[in-house]
Amino acid sequence: MQTPTTSNSSFTWIGFYEELANILQPYKDNRPALISRIREIYRKTGIRFPTLEKGGELRDINPFTVFGLFNKGISNATRMTLLEGIAEVFGITSEIPRNFDGIPVLNNWGATLKDIVATLNGKGYETPAAYYRRKHPGTKKYEKSSALSCWTMDNVRNILQQEMYYGAVVQHKRECIGVGSKHTRAVAKDKQIIVEGMHEPIISKEVFLQAQEIFYHWEDRKPAKARDFPLKGKVKCAVCGRRMNYRSNIVRGKAYSYFWCPLSKYQDGSQCSTEYIREADVNEVVCQSVRQVQLLADRAADRISKKKAGAADVHLKKMHELADLQRDLERCNTEKFANMDGFMAGIIGKDAFQRKRAELTEQESRLKEQIAVLEKQAQELKMEGSGETARAVEKIQSFSRAEELSVEIVQALVKEVRITDREHMEIRWNFKDEVMEFIES
Ligand SMILES: [Zn+2]
Repeated sequence: MQTPTTSNSSFTWIGFYEELANILQPYKDNRPALISRIREIYRKTGIRFPTLEKGGELRDINPFTVFGLFNKGISNATRMTLLEGIAEVFGITSEIPRNFDGIPVLNNWGATLKDIVATLNGKGYETPAAYYRRKHPGTKKYEKSSALSCWTMDNVRNILQQEMYYGAVVQHKRECIGVGSKHTRAVAKDKQIIVEGMHEPIISKEVFLQAQEIFYHWEDRKPAKARDFPLKGKVKCAVCGRRMNYRSNIVRGKAYSYFWCPLSKYQDGSQCSTEYIREADVNEVVCQSVRQVQLLADRAADRISKKKAGAADVHLKKMHELADLQRDLERCNTEKFANMDGFMAGIIGKDAFQRKRAELTEQESRLKEQIAVLEKQAQELKMEGSGETARAVEKIQSFSRAEELSVEIVQALVKEVRITDREHMEIRWNFKDEVMEFIES
């Protein structure tokens, strides 16, 4: 980054910022006065007061965070208006900045975190999970983490909030839920035990606390906890195969939920679509497909029952044939005894007896072979119709016509939804290709 100098006319903010910093200094010990001054600024400029704390009630503010007020991703016009208000309320004499080139630290923080993520992905740095798995093969830890997972704003934010980087060691992060219980729960930050100076720090405590100050600003931008949604775990990017991220925000009582590929946002030059895909659109597409498959399943069920009826007829015929053969076998057996009796009584000569015996023995073994073949065929016919296709059709038919997507129906029928972009989605079903071919034919 270029070093700003006061001689350069494009860095008009330096004088203003310096004066403001000096003016804010005494307010360090008088937060209520600072808060009322800030309220005055917003009242004067007519700009909506930002929600800095949950519940909208501002009780405490650090002089440092005042800078954050006009650096939080707002338009230059709004920023100028705010700065005019600040100049008026605090009596700043420096020229009001006209542009904000090269503001070294106080730029749009969201973009900065995104830049870090893009750099890590772009340079192909291992994620903590990938590193841990490589160092400890066969480990159970991180075993659910995908080999495709990449750096995201969430995991970078998590790392930036760990005290160990300024040399501290945090203990008592989790506690048992009861005596002798193996289960633990997270301990609130202010009840954790933080011991400083335990090892060589990577960053100073000041930098760490500044970062936390920024995260404090983000609190009001944090999305609501993701509720369970029907396609949870099923939506994948068709280009890179990663699971798409999901976020649901509630703005003035209306929920806005969408999916996007993490790689498209966090790696420059990825082939993935950068579009945010509305959850409602994906649900609608999947729901329509489910309804279509349900219709097809009804038709397939008719075909299966016809085939089954046909199979039953053939089965019956085979059973009759089998009975005939068994009767022949019995007669053959009787003739064998009669032959023997005739020979013993001297009615049949030796040659005739031996010829007849050989003939009957051959007939007997031929009949036994035929019976074995028929028995096998009859068994196969009985099994037909209770096969995989019939089971799949039965499963699809077990749900009433889908009006809207439910977790149950998705779990039962949908393997995954692969999204290329808004116009191109592919649904993969929980059934084998052959089965789906039969149903869709
Ligand atoms: Zn992707």
